[in-house]
Amino acid sequence: MAAGIIAASSEAEAGAGVETERAAETHFGFRTVPLGEKQRMVDEVFHSVARRYDVMNDLMSMGLHRVWKDLLVSRLRPPKSDRPFALLDVAGGTGDVSFRTVEAGGAGTRATVADINGGMLGVGRERAASLGLAERVEFVEANAESLPFADRSFDATTIAFGIRNVPRMDKALSEMRRVLKPGGKCFVLEFSRVDVPMLDAIYDTYSFKLIPGMGKMVTGDAESYQYLVESIRRFPAPELFAQMMREAGLKRVGFTPLTGGIVCLHAGVRI
Ligand code: SAM
Repeated sequence: MAAGIIAASSEAEAGAGVETERAAETHFGFRTVPLGEKQRMVDEVFHSVARRYDVMNDLMSMGLHRVWKDLLVSRLRPPKSDRPFALLDVAGGTGDVSFRTVEAGGAGTRATVADINGGMLGVGRERAASLGLAERVEFVEANAESLPFADRSFDATTIAFGIRNVPRMDKALSEMRRVLKPGGKCFVLEFSRVDVPMLDAIYDTYSFKLIPGMGKMVTGDAESYQYLVESIRRFPAPELFAQMMREAGLKRVGFTPLTGGIVCLHAGVRI
């Protein structure tokens, strides 16, 4: 474990978190695994934690994930009128971003949650029903790398805390661009690099010493949360990820670090 932390603190090593088809290997947390194996391992994580995912999110982030998601929705700016607005929330899990978007928008705002994990979607469907949003939020089992939607069919695409779990991030970004209407925006909310002295040390201690234990208490599964904190450290730095968005064909790419860099909100437009 200690060796893992040391490895992740090296900038070069962390940058290597971007998988290469050439090597056909990628990272699952701090482990190097065959590219074709990662999705199954990620699926096991989210099957294991699906039922307690939302409560653990609140606990782990001390409620901050709500603030970050609200900020994302404020950037999405769904129309308040009954003008149609279609959001695709990729790796949308239990539906948080979609619920917030339709609640912020007018009667014309609709959302589609696409996720590879039936367990997460099942929890999302139950939540939609209890929030009275089942008519406006649809749930579709789908892989981010190959979305089952027509070209140019959504006004906006989002992925929140999802992209780092996708084995081929470049494919997911290209797909999120492909399904956007021209002028539509793509947002990626993801954990990032803490850039505030002292906060980085506190954050590391909190992540590696406390979160897996909290995960064990709440979900009975420490390993899944060990993967989650490790995968955060493997995610590319904002500048590198912005370049990946450009390579996927998105324009006017930019990013906004939030909460001292714990999280970063990336955005791009399909022209
Ligand atoms: N977006 C939700 C949120 O912010 O609460 C859920 C984020 S959760 C940390 C990551 C999600 O990514 C899980 O629901 C998982 O099933 C999904 N996921 C992982 N790989 C995926 C893939 N290849 N395609 C679609 N979804 C995927």
